[in-house]
Amino acid sequence: MLYHSLHHQSPPVDFREATIAGQAPDKGLYFPEQLPVHSPAEIETWRGLNKIELGLRLLKPYLGNAMDEKTLSGIIEETLAQPFHLVQITEQIYALELFHGPTLAFKDVGARFMSRCLGYFSRNNDELVTVLVATSGDTGSAVAHGFEGVEGVEVIILYPSGKVSPIQELQLTTCGGNITALEVAGSFDDCQAMVKEAFMDPLLKAAYQLTSANSINVARWLPQQLYYALVWQQWPFDGTIPMVAVPSGNMGNIAAGLLAKHSGLPIDQFIAACNENDTISAYLHTGMHTPRHPVPTLSNAMDVGNPSNLVRIAQMFNQRVEDMALQLQGITITDQDTLATMRNVYQNCGYLLDPHGAVAYAALERSLPPGKPGVFLATAHPVKFPDVVEQATGIRPKLPSHMEHLLERTKQAMHMEASYPAFREWMLSRKKDH
Ligand SMILES: *Cc1c(COP(=O)(O)O)cnc(C)c1O
Repeated sequence: MLYHSLHHQSPPVDFREATIAGQAPDKGLYFPEQLPVHSPAEIETWRGLNKIELGLRLLKPYLGNAMDEKTLSGIIEETLAQPFHLVQITEQIYALELFHGPTLAFKDVGARFMSRCLGYFSRNNDELVTVLVATSGDTGSAVAHGFEGVEGVEVIILYPSGKVSPIQELQLTTCGGNITALEVAGSFDDCQAMVKEAFMDPLLKAAYQLTSANSINVARWLPQQLYYALVWQQWPFDGTIPMVAVPSGNMGNIAAGLLAKHSGLPIDQFIAACNENDTISAYLHTGMHTPRHPVPTLSNAMDVGNPSNLVRIAQMFNQRVEDMALQLQGITITDQDTLATMRNVYQNCGYLLDPHGAVAYAALERSLPPGKPGVFLATAHPVKFPDVVEQATGIRPKLPSHMEHLLERTKQAMHMEASYPAFREWMLSRKKDH
């Protein structure tokens, strides 16, 4: 399988190269040259497979010859080493819980898969691969845990001081070993700007083999198709297929769902559930995409004003927005509706939602025709957002027992000014020391 850049100015590459590079040299996103197609009869047999075999059927075509089947199967096993419960909330509404991984958010799946792939691809390298990542919370913790202990790879995380939750900070800063956390005296945008500048800096590029771990990387994007196959495996109805609501920010997750559907997975309509930073609804109505400056909301992992994976979705539909709008709709949910949904669902069903899952629940409830069942993806554990959950429901969620060890660990972070020259100086000096 080859991947081409959606800017069409760089040569096609295989999965290995696309994973190592992240983004194409022309700054385009990589996209598979042919999309695999599975027949209905074959898809029917997927129902009875275990998670690892299911993962193999779905992902093997995307890796081509980049990896042997045994290695891939081992990576899939580690990636899916957590439960993925489909939980019934009301007569019509089901949740696929994606938050039982090491950092309690769905990004664990993509981060693990990518880290194992990158570790495998750099196994014979003499030079260390350095993953640079800026985070507002979830991405950094998933990447830190995904890469913890992976040989041949180190991770440097930049996070804004005082702007991540206490649990997220512990997840970011207590791995040690090949994971280094930089606590930046600035905003998430400052962190992101510093990382972006580093990728363009010839001196740093000469000193390091740098790569990024954000959701534009195919190795983080593609394995997310598994969520939708896991929905379908557990779907309790015969003869009716689910509508699926996805809490959306950069739209990597929903783009993976649409891709799986393209390959034959039986899913009805997709709902891009957005907070007030919704740019998709207008795009699907007018065919014009207008990026916006994001505003802060309660579901902050979705505060994105220019979703980078939209170009991948457009490509799947050959840029035909009318076709896209048949399979995808956008719904905007305000913070006020998010809180009301969290409260109502807790009071009426005894189920605690995190703010991201709540946006998707509300969007699904609004779109489901009477009598039709649907699923939303619960992307984060409520304990990651204890203040919002308490504000909405009066309940302060407890850390799951397998996470309590976190509270005993000690934060290790380097302080860093929000200045590129200071960051660059530090990067160069640590290379000299080695
Ligand atoms: C990142 C994130 C999202 C948004 O996912 P995209 O793939 O960027 O659309 C939704 N919910 C949570 C909890 C997240 O961390």
